[in-house]
Amino acid sequence: MKISEDMKNQLEQAARAIKSAKHIVAFTGAGISVESGIPPFRGEGGIWNTYDPEVLDLDYFFSHYSQSWKAIKSIFYDFLKDKKPNAAHHILSQWETKSHLKSIITQNIDNLHKEAGSVDVIEFHGNAQRLTCLDCEHLFEVRDWVFNEKAPSCPNCGGRLKPDFIFFGENIPEQAFHAAHQATWLCDLMLIIGASGEVSPANRIPEMAKSNGAIIIEINPGETLYTSKVTDIYLQGSAGKVLSDIDMALRQMDT
Ligand code: NAD
Ligand code: ZN
Repeated sequence: MKISEDMKNQLEQAARAIKSAKHIVAFTGAGISVESGIPPFRGEGGIWNTYDPEVLDLDYFFSHYSQSWKAIKSIFYDFLKDKKPNAAHHILSQWETKSHLKSIITQNIDNLHKEAGSVDVIEFHGNAQRLTCLDCEHLFEVRDWVFNEKAPSCPNCGGRLKPDFIFFGENIPEQAFHAAHQATWLCDLMLIIGASGEVSPANRIPEMAKSNGAIIIEINPGETLYTSKVTDIYLQGSAGKVLSDIDMALRQMDT
């Protein structure tokens, strides 16, 4: 696809800012995984067009353990099983070693940043690859045995198991909350990639970075709640395509 002159200028501006930044943090939402075939929750093709969000309501989960697990299994586990990182995840992983990208704060629970090789990944909403026992607090890696039963129970104590990502009404995991704030205070450039700005309290992270003086670059096919409020450079397009274009611009600057 041909890139317009305006977009080209913005890409170059973004590449220059990335090149001179000393501490870059990427803040990612469901949009970065769309090109891996994982739909976002809201909007066109969103998960909540098919499923009732109450399956991720904590009270409902406790009172309808078996039914909740049935939905959770098909939304998250059957579906996420074969999904692979896309170009956007891979480029961020390469930037962690090649440039000043220090951490990724992700709202995603799909583990794709880690699968792509990123190391400093702050999982703001947890990770679907782990299960936690509500009784003995044991953490387990997800394995196939979990799905042999309708509703799994802890092999340690027989207690109820919950995916280690947050449900509606739950607090952000304490460690991730602190790590995200620390990274945000340190960064001089934040990339917002595929995040709508509608999910609280995660949506305050880019606002904090902005008020701390960081340059904000946003990548999204459509404008979001951030665009007019905090974004300095808005790059319209899909995460994989735009990051590949920036990556190419950075390589050209190196030659
Ligand atoms: P969101 O804030 O994550 O918004 C998704 C954004 O992605 C939208 O602004 C949309 O315009 C943008 N987008 C769509 N296609 C894109 C592309 N190819 N490249 C870049 N951006 C693209 O909101 P949500 O979908 O309502 O999700 C809410 C929360 O639910 C997330 O923050 C996350 O915690 C969780 N969630 C996670 C996953 C996952 O792990 N992959 C998937 C769905 C939802
Ligand atoms: Zn247990």
